[in-house]
Amino acid sequence: KEELNMIQGALELRNKTVEDVMTPIGNCFMIQADAVLDFNFMSEIMESGYTRIPVYDDERSNIMDILYVKDLAFVDPDDCTTLKTITKFYNHPVHFVFHDTKLDAMLEEFKKGKSHLAIVQKVNNEGEGDPFYEVLGLVTLEDVIEEIIKSEILDE
Ligand code: ADP
Repeated sequence: KEELNMIQGALELRNKTVEDVMTPIGNCFMIQADAVLDFNFMSEIMESGYTRIPVYDDERSNIMDILYVKDLAFVDPDDCTTLKTITKFYNHPVHFVFHDTKLDAMLEEFKKGKSHLAIVQKVNNEGEGDPFYEVLGLVTLEDVIEEIIKSEILDE
């Protein structure tokens, strides 16, 4: 029964998009690029429990970098290092995908192994102004796998 469910889940990957399974931007834990890595801020990051955290400049829609929590291993909170120093040093690429990317294509992308997290965006051409890229949320390999196994993976 469970196997059958998984086969069905796998077959449905091509009918679903990243937008269907992403974490919407309003629920994303993100941090501001000009933050200072003092004790309180580092505690907040650790307590969020996330492995990868989008870093934005000014507005939440303006994602510049991804902080991997393991990048903080050598940071001494007493040094009051700025987040920018760390993100510049590690310089992880930010992987963007369009909101209508199908999950089978997304899985293939993730399998290539660059990053298992992608920022979901769409071209917004509603309204008067010029079209612009709008960030809708983030999607990870776990979100795709949950679609295959059709159940939540509980975090450690
Ligand atoms: P982690 O390793 O940080 O737990 P996973 O890749 O296992 O991340 O994803 C677990 C769930 O958490 C997924 O639904 C994913 O969309 C969501 N997620 C991952 N990073 C963040 C973040 N920074 N803010 C909010 N949700 C996130």
